[in-house]
This record gives sequence, structure tokens and C-alpha cells, in this order.
Amino acid sequence: MSDEHNDHPKATDESDGSEKICFLCRRPESRAGSMIGLPNNIYICTECMQKSFDTMRNSNINYNDLMNLQNVSMIDLSNLHDQIPKTQKIKKKAEKKEPAKALDIKDIPAPHKIKARLDEYVIGQDHAKKVISVAVYNHYKRVATETMDEIEIEKSNMLMIGPTGSGKTYLVKTLARLLDVPLAITDATSLTEAGYIGDDIESVVSKLLLSADNDVEKAEHGIIFIDEIDKLAKKRNTNQRDVSGEAVQQGLLKLLEGSDVEVPVGATSKNAMVPLTTVNTRNILFICGGAFPELENVIKERLNEQSSIGFRADLKDKYDDDPDLLSKVTVEDVKTFGMIPEFIGRLPIIFTLNGLDKGMLIQILREPKNAILKQYQKLLFLDEVKLDFEEGALEAIADKALEKKTGARALRAILEEYMLDIMYEIPKDDNIGQVVITKEYIEQSGGPKIILRGQEQKCISAH
Ligand code: ADP
Repeated sequence: MSDEHNDHPKATDESDGSEKICFLCRRPESRAGSMIGLPNNIYICTECMQKSFDTMRNSNINYNDLMNLQNVSMIDLSNLHDQIPKTQKIKKKAEKKEPAKALDIKDIPAPHKIKARLDEYVIGQDHAKKVISVAVYNHYKRVATETMDEIEIEKSNMLMIGPTGSGKTYLVKTLARLLDVPLAITDATSLTEAGYIGDDIESVVSKLLLSADNDVEKAEHGIIFIDEIDKLAKKRNTNQRDVSGEAVQQGLLKLLEGSDVEVPVGATSKNAMVPLTTVNTRNILFICGGAFPELENVIKERLNEQSSIGFRADLKDKYDDDPDLLSKVTVEDVKTFGMIPEFIGRLPIIFTLNGLDKGMLIQILREPKNAILKQYQKLLFLDEVKLDFEEGALEAIADKALEKKTGARALRAILEEYMLDIMYEIPKDDNIGQVVITKEYIEQSGGPKIILRGQEQKCISAH
């Protein structure tokens, strides 16, 4: 390095905004390229730095000493080259705002994972959970990839058939919550053709928009559940035409398939005061559900008809007590029931839920993540009181629920009836440490066991 260079004043990145100047060659950064900063606000351009190293390498100078003298430390130029683009990259990233993708195929859990999450909440209904997990996975895969391909994957709208209280609504609600998508639930019986009193068909989309906090994009990836869809069936075996149900089925066709719908923002009905927006239903997943009473007879008739042909004619009553009869449903059966072919054609996935038996009802009471028993136990736990249920008590509750024929729906109401007195009385007395709900208490032939603090028994009911 020449003396001339050492005489230079410090070339600095001054706070007045002037350019960095190379300490050695005096060229400004705009000409010499990026600078290497050294202590004491000294900058050296990469070319000079390289030259210096080359000189040192070719001479016998002990450059450790030299560096100490210069109050500089060794810099690996190759690292430096790595550094420069890196800083630029980071800067670039900060500037570029990626548009938030609502749904990405990578974010959609695989079907087995969706089912595993559903298992935590929904008891039994294994087949239904499997079908719905695959359908939902495919649906959102379709949503994510539709612009990439010409082969259009058919929409996975579903028809869910199962007795009252078997978990149809619960399944859909749980699913929407797990996937974090907006959900609208509508009763088909409340829907009417446009111009009639009641909710017009497009109101289902308004509901979805509301549940998506008026975010159109979010709503367009949501789920619409239309319950009691069987009530729209044409009446069988009558000459009278039941126009209203059929017309609503007709009206739903476009929505199911995908169309632009003008809906009011922030309200469920159109009126002059409310602004309108357009929601496209192409990527909205429609799930229709219904109990379809009498559908079993339709299935039985069909099966009997088939078996009455030829030598199997003697097995006419074969299907009378078949518990899985409903699961043998076909598209033809649903049509015979009274759903119009075009409507069924837009619900390509049909599956059934089983009626709940006593064992399942007991499981529902205590097993799901947010089981009713767990909720009551937590409530009393906050008062530092332990709540237990005898096995016999759970059976008695399940028996009472079965009598009501409303599936699991009855469970909460029954339990609430019995827990009311408990929840009222227990906080009165601080000495109570545990309450055990007995079979006798549910059957109204005795009371619950009340145990004082310090004498609590081990857990009686298994949870
Ligand atoms: P429906 O089939 O008539 O739509 P719901 O889904 O409304 O029945 O069920 C009523 C209530 O019963 C739900 O809120 C849920 O708490 C409970 N339930 C029903 N089926 C199940 C199930 N398979 N697992 C857990 N809970 C269930």
C-alpha cells in the first residue's frame, strides 16, 4: 500500500448523506461498487481490498501484524460476496407483500388427518366421517388447482342421509370449525321461490357472507349446509303436484352448480338501503342433509322387487330387520323418494349416518373433547366439587334419550333437567366435596350421593 493512500483523510459515510468513498482509491461507491466497512468508519472498495490481499500474499509481510497496525481484521472476500446479495434479498422480501392466499393445497390436511380430528368430537359414523373427509379434501384440492388444468374436477357437493340427532349438523359444524371456513346452516323448509313469503333461495348465500364477516373471498370458499332437504321431495303416490318443494329444488340447481349471486352486504334480505355485492358459488361446498323418513321402505321395496324375481322370491321379509338398510341407498331410491333427477345429479356424493344406539349415546355423553359430562364436571370443579356419574346412571340417561327418538339431541336436555338441582344446591354448602349421580337419581327412585370434603371417593364413572 502506498504512503499516498495513508495520507488520505478518512472516507466516511457521513451523516449528511454524502457517498461512501474508498479509503484507498478514493473512488465513490457509485463508481467503485459496494464498499466493505471497517472499524472507525473506514470503507474500502472490493477491488482495492482484493488488490491488498494479493499484494500481501505475494510479499513476505506478516499480515497479522499489519492488520493489527491498521486496526483492521481479516475479511474473507468470498463471504463478502455472499453477504451483499443477501442483504439485497432481505430488503426485497420486506418490500414485496405476497397476497394472502385463502386456501392453499398444502394447507389442507390429508383425509386421514381430517378424519382423525373429526374422531375427537364425533362418535361413531365412521363411514360418514371417511366419506366427508375425502370429499372435503378433494373439494379444496379442486379449488386450489382449477386454474392450472383443463380437466375440471367435479364439485363434491354432498347429500347426507341419517336419522334425527345422529350428528349430521354436528359433523358439518365440526368440519367447518376444523378447516376454519365460514359455514351457513339453513333449513330447506324455510326456503321459498323468489316472490313468496319466506327466505328466497339466495338468502343461503347471504347467510354465508354474514358468517364470513362480509368477506366475499372467504365466503366463496365456505360451506352451506341445507338441512331437512327431504322436505322438498315431491309427494309420492298422489296425483297432486307439490309444486313448492319441487320449485325450490329447481331454484337450488344453479347455486349448487355455481353461479354469480347478488347478495346484500350486512343483511339477509335485499332492500333499497343495503348495498349489494356479487358472490360466486362455484367453489362453495354444498352439503344437504335430511332424515328421509320412509326412504327405508323405498329401499326395501326395490330390494324385494329384485329378490322376487326368480328363485329368491321366498325371501320377501329378508330386509325387514336389516339395521344397515339405509346404507344400501342408491340414487334411484332418492329419486323415487321425490327428489328431482337434476337436483340429485348435482349432489354426486351420497352417504348415510347410522341411528345411534345406547352404547354410542353413552360414549357421546363422556368421550368427545367437549363432552357434556366434561362440561358439567368442569363447572363444578370451579367450585372445587368433584362430579362423578355411576355407570348405571349413564345407562339410564341413554335409555331415556332412546325413548325420545331424537338421537343424541335428547341427551343434553335430559342431563340439564337432572343437573339443575345439583347446580343450584351444591354451591350453598362449602362442605360438599363430591357429588355422585346415581342410577336411582336418574330413575327418580333415589337421590345423588353427596360426599363431604376430605371423604371423597375414587372416581366412580370411567371417563
Ligand atoms: P342431526 O343429525 O339431526 O343434524 P345434530 O347434528 O344436530 O343432529 O345432533 C344434535 C346434537 O347431538 C349435536 O349438537 C351433538 O352435540 C350431539 N351429537 C349427535 N350425534 C353425535 C355424534 N355422532 N357424536 C357426538 N355428538 C353427537
